Amino acid sequence: MPRRKNFLVFGSPLIEEAEIAEVVSSLRSGWIGTGPKVHRFEEMFRNFTGSRFAMALNSCTAALHLSMLAIGIKPGDEVIIPALTFAATANAVIHAGGRPVLVDCQRETMNMDPEDAERKITKKTRAIIPVHFAGRPCAMDAIADIARRHRLHVVEDCAHAIETEFQGKKVGTFGAVGCYSFYVTKNIVTGEGGMAVTDNDEYAARIKTLGLHGLSRDAWKRFSDKGYKHYQVVEAGFKYNMMDLQAALGIHQLPRLDRYWQRRQEIWHTYNDAFQDLPVFLPAPLPGDSKHACHLYTLLLDTGRLKISRDQFLEQMTEANIGVGVHYIALHLHPFYQLTYGYKPGDFPNADWISERTVSLPLSPKLSNEDVADVIAAVREILHGHTPAL
Ligand SMILES: *Cc1c(COP(=O)(O)O)cnc(C)c1O
Repeated sequence: MPRRKNFLVFGSPLIEEAEIAEVVSSLRSGWIGTGPKVHRFEEMFRNFTGSRFAMALNSCTAALHLSMLAIGIKPGDEVIIPALTFAATANAVIHAGGRPVLVDCQRETMNMDPEDAERKITKKTRAIIPVHFAGRPCAMDAIADIARRHRLHVVEDCAHAIETEFQGKKVGTFGAVGCYSFYVTKNIVTGEGGMAVTDNDEYAARIKTLGLHGLSRDAWKRFSDKGYKHYQVVEAGFKYNMMDLQAALGIHQLPRLDRYWQRRQEIWHTYNDAFQDLPVFLPAPLPGDSKHACHLYTLLLDTGRLKISRDQFLEQMTEANIGVGVHYIALHLHPFYQLTYGYKPGDFPNADWISERTVSLPLSPKLSNEDVADVIAAVREILHGHTPAL
């Protein structure tokens, strides 16, 4: 088994000199908290999405949580989310007092199945959170139609999907609020960081206020040279603001969005070509009329034709010094959601099927051609050695 000299970290971000210098200049200026760089990053993001408002926060989880509060989710309300997502999507609903109602995904797209979503609507349903899984756009026409007919809010989880478009329109701009992540493994990074975008004045004001203790004014305006300003506490808010140290990264990463996306797309096609003949299911073809952000390359192992399990494959990849991920073990397979809401294995057949087979391979603009070749060699070697038919 060929083994790389150094471990290839899964989802390692590409950090360039411009943001290193920008962070250093923030440190030297003494202004490291929420300030002018956060303001600039918000403005850049607003221009990028074409939304009227963009609020920088310290995570996408915070953006999702505040979105739930902004649209008025209260105890007893139900919010529809896909079973195949990260815990943050569900937890944001729970922390607003709501109940996450899981729905199955489609096997091909791995995205929320709109038909199953509609079946799960009750009198208590208030909102729906589509997650653009791996960067593939959800069927926003069908979801918008369901939302309109049942008078539901739509909040988009765009953690994988900054670049994603559905039929020419950027995702994150279809519903009440769009939520983005700049966590270390995401398409652009600020360390920890997130953004909420909206066209609604009331939601924007609420998210801004709740994100900073429920104060009526930004702290950075309060201490600026324009003179001291009193603030008023108008709600019991949260501490979710982004720092200039984080925005220092974002303002240089955002303009590279397309370059990074091109490189991930190139790696994506290289993987597809290299794995054609293996006992795997490749990601569904990229949609022709829409834009896929190529955030995750999810290989599905055809375990019926293999002598090893998915988890054994993960172990052997790690032994080959290649970092891998699993996106995801669906929420209904985790103890908390089972104990709290009574979910059990088998409730969502497609999400179950994917949870047992999926492996995410490294897909980052930081990868060299050699790194990509190492990943391919390891996958082929491991699967060849365990395929009766090959
Ligand atoms: C990463 C992620 C989040 C949370 O983002 P943070 O910025 O880490 O809070 C939410 N939803 C999905 C689908 C994610 O992958």
